[in-house]
Amino acid sequence: MRIEPLTLDDTSRCPCGSGDAHGACCGPLLAGARRAATAEALMRSRFTAHVVQDADHLLRTWHPSTSPSFRDLTRSVGDEMEWKRLLITETSGGGPFDDEGIVEFTAIARTPQGRRELRERSRFVREDGQWLYVSGELKNAPSRH
Ligand SMILES: [Zn+2]
Repeated sequence: MRIEPLTLDDTSRCPCGSGDAHGACCGPLLAGARRAATAEALMRSRFTAHVVQDADHLLRTWHPSTSPSFRDLTRSVGDEMEWKRLLITETSGGGPFDDEGIVEFTAIARTPQGRRELRERSRFVREDGQWLYVSGELKNAPSRH
């Protein structure tokens, strides 16, 4: 099944929670017009991609060694999680002059069963100037509140 990404107004607040307008934050990254300068920026754009169900962006920014198939991905992107909020809790490396980075975050979703919180420590590498998501280690089982 093909899921069409939602489109967001460039002037609306970016879903990643940066406080910036979407058009000055994750928008150009999702559109492929600009590359993420930092691992954190890539992480934010991947969260926004979940919000707008942009599976193409998720795959494009996933390291080929660990990326799922498009079909598996659209299944998980299209599930009943409604992603509400992203909190970046820690970053290490991942800067404009690094080739590796760690981003730890909490993502909050609403599901038909209630609120869920996902804490993950994600690893990123930069190849040919492009930050890529490699893997994530869950810090907790998604819990309900
Ligand atoms: Zn953003």
